[in-house]
Amino acid sequence: MDAITSTRGADAVAGKGELAGQVAFVTGGASGIGLATAQVLAARGASVAIFDLNLDRARAAVDGLRAAGGAAHAFAADIADAASVETAFTAALAQLARVDILVNNAGITRDGLLLRMSDEQWQQVIDTNLTGAFRCCRTVARAMMKSRYGRIVSISSVVALMGNAGQANYAASKAGLLGLTRALARELAPRAITVNAVCPGYIATEMTARLPDAVKVELAAKIPLARLGEPAEVAEVIAFLVSPRAGYVTGQVWTVDGGMVM
Ligand code: NDP
Repeated sequence: MDAITSTRGADAVAGKGELAGQVAFVTGGASGIGLATAQVLAARGASVAIFDLNLDRARAAVDGLRAAGGAAHAFAADIADAASVETAFTAALAQLARVDILVNNAGITRDGLLLRMSDEQWQQVIDTNLTGAFRCCRTVARAMMKSRYGRIVSISSVVALMGNAGQANYAASKAGLLGLTRALARELAPRAITVNAVCPGYIATEMTARLPDAVKVELAAKIPLARLGEPAEVAEVIAFLVSPRAGYVTGQVWTVDGGMVM
């Protein structure tokens, strides 16, 4: 999945807003929370590079961002694959010349109860959600360290904090992201690079669309705000954390869950 494409032409309209002149990499940015994040970052002036498994969907997302007046670029990348990340990020850096913001958003579930969970199910989720994020951080860190500025946000989950039956692999990967976040926050702070995590609760995306209606009703009953969240509501918090305004926030875990975990 190393094919890389990019479209040009809309960068001229970037340049307004608090992220003007900045480049944001968003993994899994073709749908759900990643797409909502790409939209708000582009609206605030960032040039957004979307990395996604499905190049057609990434291109469609880029077309939408450009139609709204933003600057965006699509890259095919499998975050679980080291060579694919290296190739896609290198191409993006060559084209966009810098990276100021990384949003580690690509994530998958492969649910199953412990006794039935295969090594493959375990590994696929760890490779994508945790190892993939680690590699993306490592790849952008060099450029951020050189420019002595950077914002990294990883999308974890409330499941990292509270666990969930049938999601040992997912919960472990998302809890691992919190450790990764805190370690990198300490390591990169001397270069003014902040590293934070966001833990969404249940958000209305394709990932949760797969849940049976009865489960959604049951979930909503556990949420003080009594509804699933919208991707844009998570994106808004991410957009703050990656902005210059959040310069004194690092190593933190921000929960966006309608009050479910407190
Ligand atoms: P979606 O499934 O809607 O979007 C995830 C995106 O990531 C898709 O575009 C998907 O591509 C892409 N993707 C998946 N695997 C890879 C990969 N290996 N390489 C590159 N891209 C990949 O998910 P959400 O928007 O719901 O979730 C986004 C993040 O938020 C995830 O990390 C998820 O774990 C987390 N989260 C979501 C919650 C929710 O309730 N929705 C709750 C808590 C956390 P494709 O569609 O082609 O597979």
